[in-house]
Amino acid sequence: MVPSDATTQGSALTVEPLPAFSDNYIWLLHRDGQAWVVDPGDAFPVQHALQKRGLCLRGIFLTHHHADHVGGVHALRSATVCRVVGPAGEPLPEPLEPVAEGDAFQALGLVWRVLEVPGHTAGHVAYVNDTPPGGPRWLFCGDTLFSGGCGRLFEGTPAQMLASLDRLAALPGETQVCCAHEYTLSNLRFAQTVEPDNPELAAYAQACQARRELGEPTLPSTIATERRINPFLRSRQPSVRRAVQQREPAARSDVDIFAALRRWKDGFR
Ligand code: ZN
Ligand code: FE
Repeated sequence: MVPSDATTQGSALTVEPLPAFSDNYIWLLHRDGQAWVVDPGDAFPVQHALQKRGLCLRGIFLTHHHADHVGGVHALRSATVCRVVGPAGEPLPEPLEPVAEGDAFQALGLVWRVLEVPGHTAGHVAYVNDTPPGGPRWLFCGDTLFSGGCGRLFEGTPAQMLASLDRLAALPGETQVCCAHEYTLSNLRFAQTVEPDNPELAAYAQACQARRELGEPTLPSTIATERRINPFLRSRQPSVRRAVQQREPAARSDVDIFAALRRWKDGFR
């Protein structure tokens, strides 16, 4: 048999979350013995998983510069020859293959596209693969979009974060959303405070609660689910606008409402 292109040959891509620290996920992607990881804040869980599954690490995707996302890069790179791809505009461990908006590169037989999604940090990026219609699509969005929530605005403006989330919300509904933290239950407590009458949100919260009780991740989510339950993707909905304006009656524009919603969450316990 003639060996052919990795894009059409071999097994399907496997994507799984490796728990790290108290609530991070390092996403492990692998196929035919080759692996990439996303945001390895700690090398240990990655090395453990590679060994257990008999995988060879080929590359690392970085979404932004925070230590809980890059802390394991040096150790992984010194143990193996792997590529490290990350946003050009962030202070990241060198050497790096810098990427920016619209760039595309090959990994594990798929084409990955780079979306700049500033807000949490100034140079934050997300990665999404090209796929034929109906094929699996994964989004690695770091600390920009969480299930039921979004990242804090450490470096960007509310207008930037709203635009970034709008871009992610516009991806196909079946896109698998692979976030970097298990924040879902606390996010959903806030979401239900904002939208107590959203039945899909209530059902989703119950399902996520059950998964956590079994010790399972609530992720990946999907873009379709997030559009229905995540207040930060729903800030233009009348229900969310009304709830925000009860707290901040002066909030009028889409950006004002989004900023007030983010402030509300920042102070929510
Ligand atoms: Zn972060
Ligand atoms: Fe983080």
